[in-house]
Amino acid sequence: MVERRKPIWIKEAIEIVMEYKKRGEGETVSIHECDDRYLYTPLIADHDVPPFDRSPYDGFALRASDTEVASRENPLLFEVIDEIGAGQVSLKQVGPMQAVRIMTGAQIPDGANCVIMLELVKEVTEGAKKYIEVKRPLQEGDNISFKGEDTQKGSPLIDKGERINPGIKALLATFGYSKVKVAKKPTVGIIATGSELLGPEDDLEPGKIRDSNGYMIEAQVLRAGGIFKKYDNCADDLETLLQAVKTALEECDIVITTGGVSVGDFDYLPEIYKRLGAKLLFNKIAMRPGSVTSCAEINGRLLFGLSGNPSACYVGFELFVKPYLRYWMQSNRPYTLFITGELKSDFPKPNPFTRFVRGKLSYTDGRIYAEPVGLDKSGVVTSIAWADCLIVLPGGTRGYINGDEVDLILLEDQKGSEVPWQERKLSKL
Ligand code: AMP
Ligand code: MG
Repeated sequence: MVERRKPIWIKEAIEIVMEYKKRGEGETVSIHECDDRYLYTPLIADHDVPPFDRSPYDGFALRASDTEVASRENPLLFEVIDEIGAGQVSLKQVGPMQAVRIMTGAQIPDGANCVIMLELVKEVTEGAKKYIEVKRPLQEGDNISFKGEDTQKGSPLIDKGERINPGIKALLATFGYSKVKVAKKPTVGIIATGSELLGPEDDLEPGKIRDSNGYMIEAQVLRAGGIFKKYDNCADDLETLLQAVKTALEECDIVITTGGVSVGDFDYLPEIYKRLGAKLLFNKIAMRPGSVTSCAEINGRLLFGLSGNPSACYVGFELFVKPYLRYWMQSNRPYTLFITGELKSDFPKPNPFTRFVRGKLSYTDGRIYAEPVGLDKSGVVTSIAWADCLIVLPGGTRGYINGDEVDLILLEDQKGSEVPWQERKLSKL
């Protein structure tokens, strides 16, 4: 008799996976290799930025009080006593009616308290002496970037677990991190199962297909920030598969299998969980595609059984594996960001299960739209390549029409969300 499985809610499945969440270790890498890694420790300003008062323009530094009566009709003459570029420091003290020629980024000399831009003065040379004519009054602090105005020593700037983007990398450099403590990447073992599977290098044969899921999962693992170890594809043979899963469990932090997780004659994953003595966490979720998505736990290690159907496999990873990996790397926003937009076509077929439709985003006249791409079947592979979002159509008794408000899970998002997508009441439902 075919086993009857009781589906659990998506939210429940995510919660169950996250009950086993773990924080991984850290490692130190060169700043040149820190991109897209997750910060292992918070970034705190260890000095003021800028570290000294500096000029944001090319100009002349002088004393504002000396310019009080300056006007077009009454230009005042200042003696230029020094010239400095960025990186240079003037040793002169700016006195009454004196100025220092200063370039962008240079430290404001002692005595001066404002800067007038180069293009606003007339330069006059008298013998060996240089002067400028100032034709307007200046206020103390005019055109000065003050020490600490960007950030002050001791300010917390970036939380641990943030993914290092160009701005964060700039901060790391600012504070002298030639080496950066980042989260170690979790190693994800990938086993594609199925006697029909060929490699990308193989010619097609009758009844066979090339394994696409294995490679797709590799890319999903990388996009989530992890590293993968891909094992040879495994035929539907209990003993070989059991051995492959055992090896992967020994060598990796988590293991993902694709295929063989349903109730067919050659679907051996359920039996493998039993043989391993693993605790089955779930094997049916109220969602389409990917209702057979399974997860088992052994010695604190998770073994994800994703469907062999490419679209189902893809969705299973995005919803359940990705947050686990991101949390591992210290992220406090491990879930994928979602937004709300308008459905750009009809989807008349009602479904008791929540549906994740591969979609394409567009933006017109200030509104966000999402249109389904490709064929909406779990076995379809092309739609995954065209999709940049998952259009979420909550299960229910009715279908959806063009213009309905829908949630959109952003597949390319790297910022993350503190909360996973979950069913909620939308205005038009
Ligand atoms: P299964 O989950 O093993 O029942 O497989 C469901 C469907 O997905 C079948 O049509 C398989 O041939 C196909 N399939 C299984 N594994 C893969 C894979 N690695 N790449 C592409 N298609 C697959
Ligand atoms: Mg199979």
